[in-house]
Order: sequence, then structure tokens, then C-alpha cells
Amino acid sequence: MGATIARAEQRCAREGARLTPLRREVLEIIASGHEAVGAYDIIERMGTAGDRPAPITVYRALDFLRARGLVHKVESRNAFIVCTQDHAHAQRSLLLICDVCGLVAEREAAGVFDAVEGCARAADFTVNRPIIEVNGTCAQCATAS
Ligand SMILES: [Zn+2]
Ligand SMILES: [Zn+2]
Repeated sequence: MGATIARAEQRCAREGARLTPLRREVLEIIASGHEAVGAYDIIERMGTAGDRPAPITVYRALDFLRARGLVHKVESRNAFIVCTQDHAHAQRSLLLICDVCGLVAEREAAGVFDAVEGCARAADFTVNRPIIEVNGTCAQCATAS
């Protein structure tokens, strides 16, 4: 987790953006597990009732982290994971999602996205968020069953 924060700080510094304490805390919460974390869970883990930040503040922090490529949204779960790849191509991400335990593993899978973008080009379609989600069973859950 320390590595995630260090990388985020480096990237923000390089791009002239600020990893404010709130943005950092949101990133730390998402980085603390292997499962995707929903916005409400993030808010609930921030302080005690009464001194939690307003949801809109947390959503803005999530927007910031997504725009910087530091987290990805898992659309099928409406939840967020920390980016584990230092993407050569911003936002290209293949997410392997375990149906049993919720583990999300990210892969770069360049060949997959070259093919997807080739198809899109042939259809005169501009790709904005090339994220592919694949559901299945992780190695650990496959062994357990
Ligand atoms: Zn990523
Ligand atoms: Zn699993």
C-alpha cells in the first residue's frame, strides 16, 4: 500500500496535481483490500458519523483519482480499485473479477486492446474508456471449491 501512495504522489507531482489529504485518504481506503470498494463504503470508513466528509467531496476525489489513472471504476460492481499497472496507454485496463470472493486483478493485455481499438476504428468509433471486465473464478476460489 505504501508503494501505491508513493507512486500516486510521484505521478501527481510530475503532472502538477495535488494529492490532498482527502484524496490520499480515499486512495488509501481503496488500496487497503483486494476487492473493489463502493463509494458508500469509502465514506463510511472515513471518520465517525458526524465528522465524515460530504458525499460530493468524496465523489470529486474519486473523479480526480480516476482522471489521473490512479483508480479504476469497476462498472459492473459500481465500485473502485487501485490501478496496479503503470499504464503505457492511459486507462487501458483488463479487469479479472472473481464472482466468489470479489477479488479484482488488473492486467495490461495490450494485444486485446489493439484488437478492440482496431474494431472501433473500422466502425469510425472513438474509444474513450477502454476498460474490459471479465467475470470468473480466481485461483484461490477454484482450489477451495
Ligand atoms: Zn490501471
Ligand atoms: Zn475468488
